[in-house]
Amino acid sequence: MRELTSPTMVREIIRTHGFHVRKSLGQNFLLDANIIERIVQQANLTEQDLVFEIGPGLGVLTRRLAKDAGKVIAVELDNHLLPILAETLADYPNAEVVHGDALKMDFDRLAEERTEGTFGPQGKGYKLVANLPYYITTPILMHLITQGFHLDVLVVMMQREVAERLQALPGTKEYGSLSIAVQYYTIPEIVLKVPKTVFYPAPDVESAVIRLTRRSEPPVQVTSEEGFFRVVRAAFGQRRKTLLNSLTGSGLASKEIWQKVLAEANIDPGRRGETLSLEEFATLANTFMQAKL
Ligand code: SAM
Repeated sequence: MRELTSPTMVREIIRTHGFHVRKSLGQNFLLDANIIERIVQQANLTEQDLVFEIGPGLGVLTRRLAKDAGKVIAVELDNHLLPILAETLADYPNAEVVHGDALKMDFDRLAEERTEGTFGPQGKGYKLVANLPYYITTPILMHLITQGFHLDVLVVMMQREVAERLQALPGTKEYGSLSIAVQYYTIPEIVLKVPKTVFYPAPDVESAVIRLTRRSEPPVQVTSEEGFFRVVRAAFGQRRKTLLNSLTGSGLASKEIWQKVLAEANIDPGRRGETLSLEEFATLANTFMQAKL
């Protein structure tokens, strides 16, 4: 079969299958072989690797992944794409398509089942490479990094604005609870900026590829992860307010308790939440958890 990166070929496949591109499912198909090459390179795949893909679409990235990896499992929600994928992946026996919603997928269980335990909780870690459906970028990312899946590295394309939030540092306008969650579990690095013109149809926003390398240990010690993230969300609840007012407004505790906690944690209550580092958030949350006991 000819390469799937030619716009004529893509249009032909779509037409012969009577397929309708669904913008509501974030369907923007990649058309640039060079970009695909650069995305795949970031994952350093070998024949020993299991790699997941979310949303294979027409299978253009899937085919390239299957050339380097031992096995590819691609999770696609749109059942109208299944007959197309059966055709475009026919020559790639190591690429398997699973029909389902990536948001609900237990990737560890899937890895374990489809590799007889070589990968997953009792076996080796695996990788994920995807051009994500942008309408659910954040929930998919949160699902992938907070569930304890044995994902060693994720190379994912997303809206550039979201990618910038993931690697944002304290004191910048992009820094928020999403930056903290991602930086707690992974080391994020934007590796490629991608223009709208390499997709069919072109999305409304610019894109970027980010590599997220899972940390073996969290960068800060917290007494409770749930408590830590609750305090982080409370601090960012009202961005234009001071830390003290934002924390109080969250309803987690009274103003008096927060005043005491901030004093004990040695953090100025007049600061804004977005200036606190990961370490300071850990100190704040740990002090709060202790005050609550
Ligand atoms: N990988 C292809 C490419 O690069 O050309 C397509 C990427 S397109 C941006 C996103 C893909 O994700 C589409 O195929 C879409 O149908 C699929 N998708 C949307 N929501 C999904 C979900 N919840 N779970 C799995 N796949 C989903």
